[in-house]
Amino acid sequence: KILQDKIAAGEVVERPSSVVKELVENAIDADASDVTVYIEESGMKSIRIIDDGHGIRKEDAPLVFERHATSKIENDYDLFQVRQLGFRGEALASIGSVSHATIESFNRESSPFKLTYHGGEQIELTDGKERVGTDILIENLFYNTPARLKYVRHLKTEAGKIIDVISRVAIAHPNVAFKLELDGSTRVQTKGNGNLKEVIADIYGLNIAKAAIPFEHETQDFNITGFIVKPEISRSNKNYIHVSINQRHIKNFGISQAIINGYHSLLPKDKYPIAFLNIDMDPKLVDVNVHPTKLEVRISKDRALFVLIEEAVKATLRGTPL
Ligand code: ADP
Ligand code: MG
Repeated sequence: KILQDKIAAGEVVERPSSVVKELVENAIDADASDVTVYIEESGMKSIRIIDDGHGIRKEDAPLVFERHATSKIENDYDLFQVRQLGFRGEALASIGSVSHATIESFNRESSPFKLTYHGGEQIELTDGKERVGTDILIENLFYNTPARLKYVRHLKTEAGKIIDVISRVAIAHPNVAFKLELDGSTRVQTKGNGNLKEVIADIYGLNIAKAAIPFEHETQDFNITGFIVKPEISRSNKNYIHVSINQRHIKNFGISQAIINGYHSLLPKDKYPIAFLNIDMDPKLVDVNVHPTKLEVRISKDRALFVLIEEAVKATLRGTPL
């Protein structure tokens, strides 16, 4: 079982930033409204995430680090309905198998507990603090997978990747207050008041927020909302194109390309737009089960969506109706 988890770990949690992403998504899935992330040494020393979500019942504690045991999926039908970010029950099992993990949690309907796990084995289960929510600490990541450890030690960009993960999740969830501290200094902070424009300002600064034009288009199948930034401010890569579907941050080449095409004649060939779009649609039409990290999605009726986005971006930039 531990070997299996370690193999899965290579897929789901290949580096510290992917651990952070999984843990933050768990906090969101638990309906947290406040998520604080403390990182030391780019996550190689420690990753700690404190949320005020619904917590875990003590009865469920032995299952938390078990593979698939705790998946939120109840049956096959649900697979197409998932609005939650996690649904494979794989992340904590993987993370727990390649680190020293401590989780302290309290769910109102149960009693608080604290669980320690080392390299896939339960070390201790004791009583915890009566604070609703979850506090998870991951230390010595990859200590028992030497090849992986060697590989991640050479990563230079991990702190930047972690900032990126938190920024993207914060943009997809304006109603959640996020704070990220890297080695004691605050790098991301949002208020969680539901105002996307303020989140954009908090993360990218006032200039970009001021140049953001509201975007809103609704058809029978899709309701797209957010902001697109005036072409006067652009970037030399596609990393500033934010797309989420039903508040789940995703990557989809066609959607990014549709946004870029909408800006077509307004940006030089080597420049890319800054955009923040959420697409609300029937979850049955989205297949998020393509890759373990759940970033890539397949969408039914995607052609129609691409055309809609491109035309809507053009119309919004022109200031004319579609
Ligand atoms: P999943 O795919 O279900 O998210 P994970 O391995 O990420 O699987 O988490 C396992 C389970 O542990 C979750 O289904 C959830 O029940 C519980 N859990 C993990 N983190 C939290 C959290 N921060 N708050 C509440 N429950 C959590
Ligand atoms: Mg999860």
